[in-house]
Amino acid sequence: MSIPSTPELIEPSATDLAAFEALFRQSSAIGATPAGGLHRLAASAEDGQVRDLFRDWLEAHGFEVRIDAVGNLFGLMTFDPDAPYLLCGSHLDSQPSAGRFDGVYGVLAGAVAVSSLVRQLLERGEVPRCNLAVVNWTNEEGARFQPSLIGSGVFTGALTLDSAWESRDGDGIRLKDALQAIGYLGNDHVDLNIAGYVEIHVEQGAGLESSQTAIGVVRETWAALKRRVRFDGEQNHTGPTPMAARRDALLAAAHTITAVHDEALLHGVQMHSSVGRIEVYPNSPNVVPSRVSLLIEYRSRDVDLLSAASERLDATLHAIADKTMTSFEVESSVLRSPARLHDGFAALAHGVGAELGLSTTDSMTVAGHDAISLNRHYPVCLLFIPSSNGVSHNEAEYTSDQDMHNGLRMLTGLLHRACTSSASLG
Ligand SMILES: [Zn+2]
Repeated sequence: MSIPSTPELIEPSATDLAAFEALFRQSSAIGATPAGGLHRLAASAEDGQVRDLFRDWLEAHGFEVRIDAVGNLFGLMTFDPDAPYLLCGSHLDSQPSAGRFDGVYGVLAGAVAVSSLVRQLLERGEVPRCNLAVVNWTNEEGARFQPSLIGSGVFTGALTLDSAWESRDGDGIRLKDALQAIGYLGNDHVDLNIAGYVEIHVEQGAGLESSQTAIGVVRETWAALKRRVRFDGEQNHTGPTPMAARRDALLAAAHTITAVHDEALLHGVQMHSSVGRIEVYPNSPNVVPSRVSLLIEYRSRDVDLLSAASERLDATLHAIADKTMTSFEVESSVLRSPARLHDGFAALAHGVGAELGLSTTDSMTVAGHDAISLNRHYPVCLLFIPSSNGVSHNEAEYTSDQDMHNGLRMLTGLLHRACTSSASLG
């Protein structure tokens, strides 16, 4: 009786690496900013152009292209219509004046990895246990349309299609109409049976670079506490109203902003916080504001720390309301639990790194990713490659060609092992 040996790990060829570089260069030119960054908001004309590039590339390389009703763009490589799909991908949209790598890398590396893998599997006569696919999720960033993660949210059922379609940008344009305008309001019903999802992304932190590690294997996400708080004061004339008589809702908000900042500082690197948006009424230069809403966020790995911060915030809001003669209401409060990613998938990734001679380490993500949407339903592996100085959502975002090549080898190898080894994702 012969013991079946593990087939040699498939790696991208020099031609595949060159194809990736060419594709990445073409992407970087669409929505390019003078300082070498990218401005490519979801469902904009530039998003339409890069989608055209991506779709044409997929079709030229033998993928079946499918576009769903929220504009998610899938490239399928089907060996057996009854087998599930191993899916990889990320997003091609960007923040305003952002970098060329965030999201884009994962989509283009995914396309080249799947193409290379399928070609070499066919050459070897190796039959995978699952089909392969790559996806570009619509509006991951949440910059032009809110919320973020719209495409992956609709795909996983966390968000209804109607609410996604009705999301409006700052000019009142609906996402549905913006997708229609660029030709990516699809009508394919993409109901894939998913065996697992892999996303490779730039780290958006300096951990890998400073430890000189090639690949981060994300094991968990931070928890988040999101609150919307409204202060009510009294509208009055800025000129004649005596200072002592003012009930200034914006002053209350200002005290709150510094308190939210100070709370995070109490916990060193364990907590991040911000007030990312305020809404002021009547927002007139010579009127004491009567009503202000704040969107407050705390993030931490530790839910207990967030619960304690939440209680302290209650006490702080009462004290601020007393001091400013305003009242307040907590309009919404959401505590998002931390998530753990699939242990077996992570172990497989570390093993592939070892086979390839690439250093790997366990990582954590503070930022949201489409992978976190998928993680609620499927085995998910989220991989990081280094970000120079940890700079992200910035035109200066940078990852070297070498680091991108390492990631492409890692992704190709992981997809190979995950779709052929029998012990993969049980
Ligand atoms: Zn991203």
